[in-house]
Amino acid sequence: RDWRIFKEDYNIVSKNVINDIKPLRNWDEIPKLIPSKIIDLIYKLKYDNPTPIQRASIPITLNNQDIIGIAKTGSGKTLAFLIPLLTYLLNIDDNYFKYEHKQQDEFNKPLSLILVPTRELALQITKEANKFCQDLGINVICIIGGHQYEETINSIQNGGGVHIVVATPGRLIDSLERHIIDLGKCYHLIMDEADRMIDMGFEASLNSIFKYLPTENQLKSTIDSKIFNINHRITLMFTATITTAIEKISKNYLINPAYITIGNAG
Ligand code: ADP
Ligand code: MG
Repeated sequence: RDWRIFKEDYNIVSKNVINDIKPLRNWDEIPKLIPSKIIDLIYKLKYDNPTPIQRASIPITLNNQDIIGIAKTGSGKTLAFLIPLLTYLLNIDDNYFKYEHKQQDEFNKPLSLILVPTRELALQITKEANKFCQDLGINVICIIGGHQYEETINSIQNGGGVHIVVATPGRLIDSLERHIIDLGKCYHLIMDEADRMIDMGFEASLNSIFKYLPTENQLKSTIDSKIFNINHRITLMFTATITTAIEKISKNYLINPAYITIGNAG
């Protein structure tokens, strides 16, 4: 059966895809991949149809495979990583959200980290995430220069813990060194505009941040796989181009990623 029913499907080139997962044709395609609570919000926000990068990458990510998404600005990369990330969080046993995460000493341990090159992009992604998260009971905080550390500490404590952190590398490292944030439970990592992070000189910062992430064995011992459904980190990297620096990061920190190229990007 030819799933490529849309003209733009001929612009999607996917390589190294486990199980030959095909692009989503629409949001509520059967078998249901995305929880209905999220689908309802997607339609409410008038994202009537997924864009090609969303169609190609969401089902692969939800099959627990790492990806490198190569697509131009404006192609809809934000939802391409937010929707699977929110899906993972909603699939976590309610006990985690209701009880375990409500312990004060767990408040500063996000499950997901989104790294971006600039403050503006961090704010933009936080805003987009909040369109979904407020209704879903998921807490997002933005860690960028120019905010007071007290402000960050207060929003973690008053919000009853953080699930998703959106951050620029430099400020995140400061926050990690000050123990404001602890990545010990972080099992989703997203690098957005990875090529720009490298261009802006953040390669060493990224390597330092990766040292704070749990190893696979640590993840297995700290995270109850029954609660989380997966027992390894999922890493998604988005970039407009593939460079040697990007290849190096992917070799060091991604596991058997699928490559998804849209149009003539890359
Ligand atoms: P990129 O990160 O690839 O530059 P964005 O995620 O910022 O792209 O999305 C670009 C614009 O497209 C945004 O205004 C966003 O709201 C809109 N958009 C994203 N996905 C969809 C969709 N499925 N349907 C309609 N608009 C969308
Ligand atoms: Mg973007």
